[in-house]
This record gives sequence, C-alpha cells and structure tokens, in this order.
Amino acid sequence: MAELRYDGRVAVVTGAGHGLGRQHALELASRGAKVVVNDLGGDRSGVGADAGPAQQVVDEIKKNGGEAVANPDNVATPEGAQAIVQTALDTFGKVDIIVNNAGILRDKSFKNMTPEEFDAVIAVHLRGSFLVSSAAWAHLREQGYGRIVNTSSPAGLFGNFGQANYSTAKMGLVGFTKTLAQEGAKYNIKANAIAPVAWTRMTEDLLPADFADKLGVDQVTPLVAFLVHDTNEDSGEVYTVGGGRIAKIFVAEGPGYGQKTTLSVEDVRDNWAEINSGDPLTVFKNVGEQMGPLIKQLTS
Ligand code: NAD
Repeated sequence: MAELRYDGRVAVVTGAGHGLGRQHALELASRGAKVVVNDLGGDRSGVGADAGPAQQVVDEIKKNGGEAVANPDNVATPEGAQAIVQTALDTFGKVDIIVNNAGILRDKSFKNMTPEEFDAVIAVHLRGSFLVSSAAWAHLREQGYGRIVNTSSPAGLFGNFGQANYSTAKMGLVGFTKTLAQEGAKYNIKANAIAPVAWTRMTEDLLPADFADKLGVDQVTPLVAFLVHDTNEDSGEVYTVGGGRIAKIFVAEGPGYGQKTTLSVEDVRDNWAEINSGDPLTVFKNVGEQMGPLIKQLTS
C-alpha cells in the first residue's frame, strides 16, 4: 500500500511549538502538507508569550524540505483564532485540516480551585477549539472538505484528581466533536477527538519516569495523521492513543428500565440493578437515535 500523503492540503496545528502539536506539524509537513504552526509560547500554566517555539518548528520543517509558517497568536481569543486561520488563507490560500491541540494546566484539588483557574483552562482547551474551528468553518463548508481533530484526554473521559477544570474542558470537547461531525457531514467535514498519553512537559512529573522512552509523542501522531487524511471516513469518534496502543472509546447506554410512563422514587429503588445494567450496551450515533427507546415506550 502507498504511504499516506497530504500534498495539496493546508493544516493548522495549534500549540505546535512543543510536545504533541510539534510532532503533528512535523509529520504532516514531512508528508507534503503545508502547515501553520501556531503557538503562543507561554509556560505550562499558560503564563507568558514567546514567538520562538513556533518559529523553531517552522525552521525545522523548512530545513527538512517542507512548507510551514509560524503564528504566535492566542487560540483563546476571537481575534487570535481569526488570525491563525487568516495566516493559512494569506500564506497558502486555504485551510483543510485543523488540529486543535493547544493546552495548559492549572491543577488544583476541587476544594482549592478558584474561578480564575477554572476559566483559564476552559478558555484555552474548550473555547480555543471552538474559536479556531469556528474561524475555519465557513471555508471548510464552502470547499466541501474539512478534517478536524480535537484533543481530549483520558482525564476528561474518566475523571482525574486535581483536574476539575481540565476534565470539564476535555469532556466538553467530546460533545463538541460529535456535534461538529453531525453538522459537517453533508460538507465532507469529519471531526474526531483523541485522548492521548505521551511524555511532554505537560506530563513529565505526572507519568511514571520508567515509561518516558516508551511514551514518545511519535506514538500519538499516527492516529492524528490518519484521522485528518482524505481517506478517513469516520467522524464523531473518540480514540485513546499512546505508547503503541490505540483503542476506540465509546459513549454507550445500558438497556435501562422503563415499563411505565410514571416513575416513582420506589420504582427507582426497586429496579436499581436493572437501571445500572450495562448488558447490552448500545452506542447511538446521535440524540435522535438515542431517543429511540423512549419514543418506543411512549408509543407502545
Ligand atoms: P505541551 O505543553 O508540550 O504543549 C502544549 C502547547 O500549547 C504548548 O506549546 C503551549 O505553548 C501551547 N499553548 C498553550 N496555550 C496556548 C494558547 N492559548 N494559544 C496557542 N498555543 C497555546 O503539552 P502536550 O502534552 O503536548 O499537550 C498537547 C495537548 O494534548 C493538550 O491539549 C493536552 O491537554 C493534550 N493531552 C496531552 C496528554 C499527554 O499525555 N501529554 C494527555 C492528554 C491530553
């Protein structure tokens, strides 16, 4: 089989000055994509700004014979997000691929988490993904082509101590992805999410040091690259990836309980085991499908 190429495609990768985003940008550029390397260049908590990291990645891409342009704007402001997409339009004439990857951490136990710490993390991960996708959306629709990857996290899907802000943003991205997939379907816009694990400055003091070598960022990028390729047909899905392992994550519903149209608190108590059953699990493609069992009960 031929290798996957991205010739003629223009990709925007946010937060691509370090870690995972940097690797996504290098890989896509090495396979022919023209890449906007966005990075605000702050520290892990999002403090500060530096155009250097994005420019360094661009220099590396160019040294390897690829095409790229740096952008130092902030994904979390409407003006910044517009400028990121405009950089693609001005430099390469279009935008095809968006990898929403920029992220920061402000970890605190919930007891100590301030509204500022909550808002700052939501702003970059969730609002930033919304703003950049929104700035590109009309262009993607118009050209009848788009590939979006949003960066979620296992911490969002399954919860993690000290990350109420981060996990809220990351689970929010799952709903965001599923809705974009549905709204983008008739325009050939595919949106998917990843929940990665990799050794970066974000995780170097959180993951076991023994695994540093095995959790390279290069073990995450192949999934991102596949999802943004022309040949990917799947949309609205979430995959976990890292260390050579990859798996699909499902949002699923149990068979449930419901024989009547009225439900009492005693009904809930008496049928608790059935309500909690996960056998069988059903994965619905959209909320219309998910309403199916209820509609069936209401009309039977
Ligand atoms: P990283 O800190 O190396 O990279 C994040 C990049 O985003 C940095 O270069 C930073 O400057 C940039 N950034 C931050 N705020 C920005 C803003 N407002 N505008 C533009 N750029 C901004 O960390 P990473 O591990 O490579 O993280 C990349 C993404 O993957 C993040 O969304 C993170 O939450 C997610 N993630 C990582 C892991 C992991 O194991 N490393 C696990 C789950 C999710």
